[in-house]
Amino acid sequence: MDIHEYQAKELLKKFGVNVPRGGIAYSPEQAVYRAQELSGEKCVVKAQIHSGARGKAGGVRICSTDDEIADAAAWMLGRKLVTHQTGPQGKLVGRLYIEEATDIAQEIYLGFVMDRKEERVVVVASAQGGMEIEDISADEPDSIIRSVVDPAVGMQAFQAREIAFQLGLDAALIPQAVKQITGCYKAMDELDAAMLEINPLVVTGAGEIVALDAKLSFDDNALFRHPDISELRDKSQEDSRETYAEDRGLSYIGLEGEIGCIVNGAGLAMATLDMIKMSGGEPANFLDVGGGASPERVLMSFKAVLNDPNVEAILVNIFAGINRCDWIAEGVVRAVQELKLTMPLVVRLSGTNVEEGRKLLNESGLNITTAETLAEAADKVVAAWKKASTKNAEAI
Ligand code: GDP
Ligand code: MN
Repeated sequence: MDIHEYQAKELLKKFGVNVPRGGIAYSPEQAVYRAQELSGEKCVVKAQIHSGARGKAGGVRICSTDDEIADAAAWMLGRKLVTHQTGPQGKLVGRLYIEEATDIAQEIYLGFVMDRKEERVVVVASAQGGMEIEDISADEPDSIIRSVVDPAVGMQAFQAREIAFQLGLDAALIPQAVKQITGCYKAMDELDAAMLEINPLVVTGAGEIVALDAKLSFDDNALFRHPDISELRDKSQEDSRETYAEDRGLSYIGLEGEIGCIVNGAGLAMATLDMIKMSGGEPANFLDVGGGASPERVLMSFKAVLNDPNVEAILVNIFAGINRCDWIAEGVVRAVQELKLTMPLVVRLSGTNVEEGRKLLNESGLNITTAETLAEAADKVVAAWKKASTKNAEAI
């Protein structure tokens, strides 16, 4: 789960990380009022969306007058801000963060990620901050510092000091840098975060180290331990198709195509996406119904897939080991009847109780195409979709 920048900053503050003062605003008037409370010469109006690269998209504006603040706020609020991380549909700006402006002398990149190979948190830092880490690693790969943290002892002061020295920071800044880096690690560790990125961490003209931006995401499996963090979820920032499925315990990822997929097992689901593409179609989603899927769960999966208005055909692909084909078939039949499904539907069943499953489908009297193998199923669904699509096109 991701949270907003201002929420991340609030959390980091509790761990001794320096952040600029700021306040949240939901309207241009409130934005001006917040800026007056901060009483600086300049302030920064920042769109709060779950995405980085807002600056380049117009979502971060330094303002000097009330008019500028109100204008920036009016432009951002209610807008679907498109950054190169949001996809073409963008993300809705529902709130703004108004922050005192910082006088920047140097921008540093500081990230904390889970390294799966090391099975540890790794700190990634670079003196070339402000750019995205992908660009830094392409343009200035030698500037990247990596440091692995031993979870048994956590981030040690000497380790943070080493990172600070490698960043080329002035000796006078080292104690502050150590406090910021160890504070970030502590936050990451205690809050069960999956990723923390401070880009940029800045050195100000007055020689202070401040986290100017903050991106924090959490491990969903650990959220039950942090009810206060679960509260920070903002569904307006999520893919509504994914939220619908996730709220019902389904493993679903929305894609851009037209062929909806209902599969059991993540590996088979990915293979199914590949096969659809090889047959000349585009998958609309990844969906793993999981093992032991009841007819109710299958029905729910159909609802999740059909929630996507782009879906024009459906492929069900089940290799039943823990699952039972007859349960799946029962769910499919119920879904077609209850949801009055008219689009092409191809079902491939294999494994436990496959005969019973096929019998249920064949005797249902419904318009369901069956297939023996995955390749055959993918070919059939793509062909049926193309036919239905041209039919639609002719009808129009
Ligand atoms: P992002 O574009 O979503 O990563 O948003 P950031 O919060 O990182 O802001 C983008 C850029 O705006 C930063 O890298 C800074 O260069 C600039 N910026 C943000 N806040 C300030 C500020 O208070 N003062 C100055 N001078 N620049 C700022
Ligand atoms: Mn940033």
